[in-house]
Amino acid sequence: MATVKLTNVKKIYGKDTVAVQEFNLDIADKEFIVFVGPSGCGKSTTLRMIAGLEEISEGTVEIDGVVVNDLQPRDRDIAMVFQNYALYPHLTVFENMAFPLRLKKTPQEEVYEKVTKAAEILGITEYLTRKPRALSGGQRQRVAIGRAMVRDSKVFLMDEPLSNLDAKLRNQMRAEIILLREQIDTTFIYVTHDQTEAMTLGDRIVIMKDGFIQQVGTPTEVFDMPENLFVAEFIGAPKMNTIKTQLVSEDGKYYVTPYGAKIEVDGKKADMLREKGAEAGEIILGVRPEHIVLADKDDPAAIPCKIVVNEMMGSELHLHVVVESGDRLIVRIPTVSLEDEERHNLVHGHTIYVTFEGKVMHFFNPESEKNILL
Ligand code: ADP
Repeated sequence: MATVKLTNVKKIYGKDTVAVQEFNLDIADKEFIVFVGPSGCGKSTTLRMIAGLEEISEGTVEIDGVVVNDLQPRDRDIAMVFQNYALYPHLTVFENMAFPLRLKKTPQEEVYEKVTKAAEILGITEYLTRKPRALSGGQRQRVAIGRAMVRDSKVFLMDEPLSNLDAKLRNQMRAEIILLREQIDTTFIYVTHDQTEAMTLGDRIVIMKDGFIQQVGTPTEVFDMPENLFVAEFIGAPKMNTIKTQLVSEDGKYYVTPYGAKIEVDGKKADMLREKGAEAGEIILGVRPEHIVLADKDDPAAIPCKIVVNEMMGSELHLHVVVESGDRLIVRIPTVSLEDEERHNLVHGHTIYVTFEGKVMHFFNPESEKNILL
């Protein structure tokens, strides 16, 4: 059992640098939680306060119901893996992994058992007698994870563990962390600036900005129903298109009017607008690139635009287009759906017509930038 609870946690560095504030979060036993946000938003500081590496200025951190604010890191029963996995160069992989156990004067037999088991899970058994310099970056990172694993801690903290690896290795290690998670039955808190890592690893994601939590939710929740414009643009790649436009209400129906087009809001989104009693007026409309589709020139819902960049990604085409007002949009089109002739038209300099379905729209208040459906 290991729950982690943060209540009104605040961190002030020096006199007045507020790094984290009003941080409230209940982490369930064996949950995989990801803190994500741009550099400087307070992710590492929060993790380090949980670990005991940073003093908590205000509020409480509880592990399994016990307030740990005044406990030393070693007394908190946590394990931590950092970005810089600092292995001891003069020790073998086995001894690097055994290190925390040696500190605790663990009997030799138990050390052997734990290290070999962790090495097996991580697929590094054959390297146990090597020194770190004879390993690749990914293998070294596995040793660092192994060193944390052998401690059988209640909580496993990871601070950007993959950011020193190249893109390919990062993808591979990400998948391995998912597998690893199934084998080490513990609570994980993982810090990253990478929204893909957050989406693929987290049971729930905590999105942060300027020291404040912006939203806590499952990957599906934060993707489908972002609480504000920041979350909407941070989650998803390429990022969501945002358009300043009008919400129009006519005969019990809602429409949006981006760039002279008139598009009905339908399905669940229309029901939600009605339930909220949303008023007509200026809004920021959000549409993800994958939700924009090609339209007929004569369709009243069609927006004319000119292609300025076409990026062929293989299975899809990313089009950067400019509309009459000068705004830029990004459109993602699956190539499998395209006829050859259509594909020839989707190139730099051509004018195309696009639209989107009402059920995929997001609506934000232009002042507060909050999702008006929440
Ligand atoms: P993140 O992990 O999201 O990149 P950090 O938690 O490292 O962000 O930092 C949050 C804020 O606190 C930043 O503005 C950073 O400059 C500041 N900060 C972090 N560590 C210290 C420190 N030791 N002293 C003063 N300010 C710090």
